[in-house]
Amino acid sequence: MPHMMDDFPLRMSTLYDQAVRLYPRSEIVSVESDGSVFRTDYGTVDGRIRRLAAALESELGVPYGGAVGTFAWNNLRHHELYWATANSGRICHTLNIRLFPEQLTYIVNHGEDQVIFVDPDLVDLIAQVADTFDTVRAFVVMGDSAQGFDLPNAIAYEDLISRVDPMSEWPDVGEGDPLMYCYTSGTTGNSKGVAYTHRSTYLHTISNLANLPISASDNVLPVVPMFHASAWGFTFMATVRGAKITLPGPDLSPQGLVNLFESESVTISAGVPTVWIGVQEYLAKHPEADVSSIRSFVCGGSAVPRAMIDWYHQNRDITVIHAWGMTETNPVATLSLLKPEMQSWAWEDQLDVLETQGTPVPGLEIKIVDEAGNSLPHDGEAFGELLIRGPWVAAEYYNDPRTAASFQDGWLRTGDVCKITPEGYVKITDRAKDVIKSGGEWISSLDLENELMAHPDVVEATVVGVNHEKWQERPVAFVVARQGREVTESQLIEHLRPRVAKWWLPDRVIFIDEIPKTGTGKFDKKVVRERYMNVLTSD
Ligand code: ADP
Repeated sequence: MPHMMDDFPLRMSTLYDQAVRLYPRSEIVSVESDGSVFRTDYGTVDGRIRRLAAALESELGVPYGGAVGTFAWNNLRHHELYWATANSGRICHTLNIRLFPEQLTYIVNHGEDQVIFVDPDLVDLIAQVADTFDTVRAFVVMGDSAQGFDLPNAIAYEDLISRVDPMSEWPDVGEGDPLMYCYTSGTTGNSKGVAYTHRSTYLHTISNLANLPISASDNVLPVVPMFHASAWGFTFMATVRGAKITLPGPDLSPQGLVNLFESESVTISAGVPTVWIGVQEYLAKHPEADVSSIRSFVCGGSAVPRAMIDWYHQNRDITVIHAWGMTETNPVATLSLLKPEMQSWAWEDQLDVLETQGTPVPGLEIKIVDEAGNSLPHDGEAFGELLIRGPWVAAEYYNDPRTAASFQDGWLRTGDVCKITPEGYVKITDRAKDVIKSGGEWISSLDLENELMAHPDVVEATVVGVNHEKWQERPVAFVVARQGREVTESQLIEHLRPRVAKWWLPDRVIFIDEIPKTGTGKFDKKVVRERYMNVLTSD
């Protein structure tokens, strides 16, 4: 006999059913693609989710374990798809709407998606490649009508779910069965997929809820797309707590977001740094905008500028919670929160902690290793590649022979280079592939970016290593200046001079209108590097 009910499966429907039972009146607000705002609650949505699950089975013929593609914004129907697939044992394959067409073809075919659900305003994007999908039998347009859309076998979402009776009982889903395929954005070669399981997502949800300030009284607005790494788990977490959920739809402009924060009294939101940099700009120009309901912005996906954490604290009393994670870690793995003894520290000392990527959430283990794989001390000085393991860390890439290089002795090699402080906080210094090596010595592009973005006239900055005849590589900074402000190359070099080692100073500061971004809103250093590779040698 087992000591405990260890065979009780960790399946998402257990968490879901309880949330709906306890919080049927909790609200969901969804901004639709046409800009209209739709309001409903968990109890009403439960009926729709059960009908959607039934329709997947009987109308669309997707069997248990079959993959359902989604090509959609953060909205109610996408939320319904997350839960209908999970609860019924189907797999939600979220397709990143910003992928190049050939990548889209690759991942749809690789995931063997059987149907694709698509937002009406995104139909044109997917229609271009619809005939390259080998396994897709039908398209469901996420609205009232499929008329006039140029897609083979198109059905309207509302028609589909109105034809069936709700699925009354969820199947006995196995905890090791997948509920979602998430693919990385594939900056080199084809994207790699990760199959999140019920067990991994259940534990990810519970562990993160132990750390993040989300209760049933909160209102959670995920800006991070549901088509990327399960919106960092925020819609799952919010549902499980019974919180109000606000889904912003396609308008992710600073003004659009701030309006929603105000009108819906949002309390916590999550997104990449470029989102919060934009919102900061907007709020600085609109002191009358009332975002006093917001307590926290969770921010990650790339390094969070210290100056931004400081600005929100000083000006809006908003705590920016720095998070680190990867598609491969389900995805949230570390969060930067102050320990009790740090609460009384001076703000600058607290900022030193808050700007790190934080400590692992309960249940995950980390270490740093040198190139030979030897563990390095957590002394805040030694740096090496970050390795991670735990119940919601991928053990392989889905059906992909490229697995071996990333997994070693039960650990995931993250490809991120970092230090770990004696207090246990991870401080990422670079992605291994972005490290700048000048004359064999190593320069942290993230540190330089952070210092540049602390300059009041700088909105965004990225630093890459480019060819150099003598030093092989030298750093060059690319800067977006604040609108209406004059700032020069020499001013920025003088700003950096007291802050970094002399030989770290960029050889050039180049002003650009916009930094190229990846499909997930990160600085696309590869593009910048390719474009400016010879900017120093051809001078
Ligand atoms: P993609 O590669 O598709 O953009 P991921 O979200 O999986 O998607 O990217 C994970 C990588 O993003 C990490 O390995 C790390 O390099 C970077 N990253 C994520 N969060 C942070 C952070 N808080 N600080 C610095 N880098 C981060």
